[in-house]
This record gives sequence, structure tokens and C-alpha cells, in this order.
Amino acid sequence: MFNKTVFNNSAATPVPTGTFRDLAERLLQGEAIGPDAALALLRSDPADYLDLLAAAAALRRRYFGNRVKLNYLVNLKSGLCPEDCSYCSQRLGSAAQILKYTWLTPEEAISQAEQGLAGGASRVCFVASGRGPADRDVDRVAGLVGDFKTRNPQAEVCACLGILKDGQAERLKACGVDAYNHNLNTSESKYSQICTSHEFSDRTRTVEAAKTAGLSPCSGLIVGMGESDEEIVEALFALRELGSESVPVNFLMPFEGTPLADTWLLDPVKCLQILCVARFVAPQSELRIAGGREMHLRSLQAMALHVANSIFLGDYLTSEGQSAAEDLAMIQDAGFVVLDAAESRPDRMADEPQTRTEAGPVAEPVAGPGQEPVLRRRGAGTARQPNA
Ligand code: SF4
Repeated sequence: MFNKTVFNNSAATPVPTGTFRDLAERLLQGEAIGPDAALALLRSDPADYLDLLAAAAALRRRYFGNRVKLNYLVNLKSGLCPEDCSYCSQRLGSAAQILKYTWLTPEEAISQAEQGLAGGASRVCFVASGRGPADRDVDRVAGLVGDFKTRNPQAEVCACLGILKDGQAERLKACGVDAYNHNLNTSESKYSQICTSHEFSDRTRTVEAAKTAGLSPCSGLIVGMGESDEEIVEALFALRELGSESVPVNFLMPFEGTPLADTWLLDPVKCLQILCVARFVAPQSELRIAGGREMHLRSLQAMALHVANSIFLGDYLTSEGQSAAEDLAMIQDAGFVVLDAAESRPDRMADEPQTRTEAGPVAEPVAGPGQEPVLRRRGAGTARQPNA
């Protein structure tokens, strides 16, 4: 199990000397893990992954019980971005045959979002491609969020509009936005290899601005881009330092037509190990299994629910996920229940009785290892029903 000397190495780190479970117990007593210990966990023997998972699950259970929070993405504006993030199907020069459209009407955006709520989501994430919004874009989003919240006061709203300018976070807060997503995506030391059109510091500043304005900071990662274990740990600690309250972990979807096409560097156990370390680093943060879970976790997806407490329901921004019915069935089969919108904030997550969500029929599988992501052809920006 643990190598004792591995953990005797950081002044800021408690010194766990036993099993993964011992370490979890220490975190439950209020201690915090440091980077060296996190790296050792990430590099622990894959054969021990069930022990690691069980320890991370104890943290998840303490802070989030058996609830799974469903988040629903609405892509307000798709493609045509001037930035060059190498993982992104919407990037400058992307040849991926994704849906491309400019701003949805407020009516369509609200209709899409309400279908996500009807599917069981408690948080809706309104997303727009681009470097960052103009003030008129913020006004546009503020208007639709105001209308949406009037009709659905129980729903949480997250906005994801890119790099924010002065005053924009405050404007979003004032109209009823609850959270702001801006992922760090990778470590500062790796950042220039995945993007040259903006800097890591642009991203941290936006997360800070959101937090200062009273928005709940949502910021996470993409793994599987060729980063080292040290860089994963560096990024996780940067997120903890920023106080990210919601941490989506994306697994690279290697879109044809982007620089990272054909990049397949993950396996299901490694994905679980990454999620476990994320839980150990920030035990009380909402940890979301985000894009790419189907193709990288594969048959171990449900096991990841024992560590993460949040998923995106249905489809992603430009690709299709497994069916929403399949998501709900997976949650139920693994013994979890969907978080009710009325209790979606941590301070409301006590011990109210929960009912299980009825699962619908299972639909067709999505892309597997080595296959291109299935491009989204339903929901926002199309005439077809969304996957909700
Ligand atoms: S800024 Fe956002 S939409 Fe644009 S390329 Fe980067 S990740 Fe994609």
C-alpha cells in the first residue's frame, strides 16, 4: 500500500503513513493533503485502485451523501471562436464538422434549459464560445437568465462566457446567475502548449473576478492532453488555491480536425485515479465527471460516481453523450439518487428523504476508444429534441 517515505515529504502536508483509508480519515478530521502526497496517490499501483476508490468514496459520502447533481449544458453560441485552444472543436481553424450557430434566441435558450430541468437537472449551464463577452453579450445573457429564473426560481444557473472584463461578473450576479464556469483546463506550466491566444493568468483572473462578485466559482480540468502526473497535481492545487467550489474533470475528446485528434492517452483506471486524487485534494468541492466520461471511463463510469458527486446530463457542447435515460439508469443502478433542485446547495444537503428517479429506456451507445466523438445533431441550434 503506501510507501511511508513518499508521504514524509512536505511541510504543509500531513504525513499519512498507512492505508488510503487512513489518509481519508485524516482528511475527515480536517487535515489537508499536499502535492507530494497527491502525486503519490496518482502514481499508486493501478492494481490497488479499488482501495483508493473506497477511501475517496468515504470522503464523497461524508460531504455529499448518496446524491448525484445533474447539470445541463445549453450551448448558446457554437463554434467560430477566435481562440486556439488545441483541445476544442470550436477553436480557430477547427475542421471538426460541429454545429455552428450564433446566439440562440432567449426563447430557444430557455426552452432548451427547461427541458434539462424536466430531465432532472438542478443546474443549467449557459455557455457561449469566444474569448469573452462584449457588454452587449452580457446584457443578452442577463436578460434571458432573468426570464429563466422568474419561471424557474428553484433552478441554479451557471454562466460560461469566457474571459470577463471589469464589471461583467457583477452584472451577471445581479441578474440571478449563481455560478460562473471558467476552467483552468491544465497546469500553468503546461498551458502554453495547449493555447497561445490567451494565458493561464487570464483564466485565474476571471475565476477570481467571479468569486469576488459573489458567483460560485466553477473551474476544472481536461486530462488526457499529454500532461504529466505532476502537471495534473499542479492544476488540482491551483484549483484548490482559487477556491473552485465546483470542479469539472473532462477527459479529452479528440475531435477530428483539431490538433489533438487521435490522442488516446487515458484508460479507465487512470481516469478513476485522477478523480480520486481530485477528491482527496478538495474533499468538499463538487466534483463533476464531465465531457468524455463515456469514451474514457467506459464500463467503469458508475464506479466513478462513488468519487464524483456530479455529472452533465445528456449531451455536451458539440458532441453527444449517452442518452439521458442511460445516465439516470446508471445513477440508480449504482445506488445513488439524483439531487433535487430544492436541495442543490451544499447547505441544504442534510438528510432529507430522497426518492429514486425513474429511469427510462437505454439508448444507443456513444463513441468508444479510438472512435471520433459523435458530433451533436440534436438540441440547441437544431430542430431536434434535446437529449434530456
Ligand atoms: S476560448 Fe473556449 S470556445 Fe474558444 S477555443 Fe478556447 S475553449 Fe474553445
